[in-house]
Amino acid sequence: MPTSPLPPGSTLGILGGGQLGRMLSQAASRLGFDVVILDPEAGSPAGRVSARQIVAAYDDPEALSELGRSCDAVTFEFENVPAASVERLAGSGARVAPGPLALSTAQDRVVEKTFLNDAGAPTVAFASVDTVEDLKAAVQTLGLPALLKTRRDGYDGKGQAWIRSPEDVETAFAAIGGRPAILEAAADFVRELSVIAARRADGEIAVYPLGENSHAGGVLRTTIAPATASAGTQARAHEIASAILNGLDYVGVIGVELFELADGTLLVNEIAPRVHNTGHWTQDGCVCDQFEQHVRAVVGWPLGPTAAHARIEMTNLLGDEIEQWPALAAAPDVRLHLYGKAEARAGRKMAHVNRVMGPA
Ligand code: AMP
Repeated sequence: MPTSPLPPGSTLGILGGGQLGRMLSQAASRLGFDVVILDPEAGSPAGRVSARQIVAAYDDPEALSELGRSCDAVTFEFENVPAASVERLAGSGARVAPGPLALSTAQDRVVEKTFLNDAGAPTVAFASVDTVEDLKAAVQTLGLPALLKTRRDGYDGKGQAWIRSPEDVETAFAAIGGRPAILEAAADFVRELSVIAARRADGEIAVYPLGENSHAGGVLRTTIAPATASAGTQARAHEIASAILNGLDYVGVIGVELFELADGTLLVNEIAPRVHNTGHWTQDGCVCDQFEQHVRAVVGWPLGPTAAHARIEMTNLLGDEIEQWPALAAAPDVRLHLYGKAEARAGRKMAHVNRVMGPA
């Protein structure tokens, strides 16, 4: 991938028109770029703040060729982009980042965990499972409790089933649809952390301070960042993120979800080859947020500063929690980020707020 900077006035394409695409588009337009969104739904949250939206499926060959032709660089707001789509875009001459290796690695939990351990970023013990017999053998090896997850297409805790006793094996396998799966040993973590980092094509890396995350029902509720963490933990997170970025020859922003164990060990839960919900705090805690950082990396600009100037509590507003907006708009210490979604379906991410807790 070329390392020369694309000048303002160039065009950036984004596959996906949700809130991540919207905030990427806003950051790109602030730097003088035009943005084209590809999303199957007309009037998507990102499409409404961009120069143009191509309304088509993510695997529509003509739409992909058109996106590639009209853009100088193309990126993604989600990781489950079909591999053939990435190849078609790359063939159009536009810079495409992150690349096919990062996407294919993050799309399959067994490939991902194998890569992570090889790269020096340790995970829980795991086993690949295709049949009930595989699952029984994996339970013997890993012990219980253990968490069964589909290899592909899982997000926000979906496609997962806990196995707590040997009798759960068959129900758990049926619960995830009998699909190719991974069995993971239970991580006995004291808290969940994440690190957002970026890499340019020339190998330069920038890493944000750690965030501490809490989930409910598999969905992120809050991130507090910078997390209280020892210098050793920060340094280890930096080392892990760098190993992953270099191992994937990565270009762009990545989210790395971590488990912290009682003895301070960090294990990687998963990686997201894109801007990440646990990095939204950077919008109000840092001079250069994760969205601008991603655009900078993709278009070959210098990476921005990652130091925090404020401590932030980021809270997601799900479904009808969006109705709290008038009180939140009146609060002196919060910044509202609304996604412009018309329908507040239960559990749908509608907005987030960043509350300034104090200096970093
Ligand atoms: P994931 O979809 O892999 O991010 O998992 C969603 C949530 O399930 C994580 O944020 C953890 O709270 C929990 N979880 C995932 N994997 C494990 C594991 N191996 N051990 C314990 N908890 C886990």
